[in-house]
Amino acid sequence: MTAGPDSPLAGGCLCGAVRYELTAEPHDLYHCHCSICRKCQGALYPTYASVARSGFRLLQGADALSTYASSASLRRRFCKTCGAHVYGETDDDPDTVGFSVGTLDGGADPGGRQGVERHIFWGSRAGWYEPADGLPRRDEY
Ligand SMILES: [Zn+2]
Ligand SMILES: [Zn+2]
Repeated sequence: MTAGPDSPLAGGCLCGAVRYELTAEPHDLYHCHCSICRKCQGALYPTYASVARSGFRLLQGADALSTYASSASLRRRFCKTCGAHVYGETDDDPDTVGFSVGTLDGGADPGGRQGVERHIFWGSRAGWYEPADGLPRRDEY
């Protein structure tokens, strides 16, 4: 399924306070192996995708969000109650929102043209688990 104005994809945090929908097609899907994302999400490697800001609509929960700036330019938005990291914003690309793919309802496929495209920050990965999906592995973004 591809997200669009007539077929939005819905998502939100674990407790339901924060809800959003995507009305544009996500792109740039990747698994991030950096040490910051590992700690932040409590997962070996979270998966993110980008969507145009105009296609990311916060339906509810703006006041339920907390912000953590994990670097000078990246602001990560979390649910204050359940801790889910829903999305992030960066001054480097203000017209784009990066969201946590796992917050889409029902494990929805974000519908990118090529699916997940790559692993990033591969050199920082937790070395005891080796994904064998054949995707490109980059040490940078
Ligand atoms: Zn929540
Ligand atoms: Zn990361």
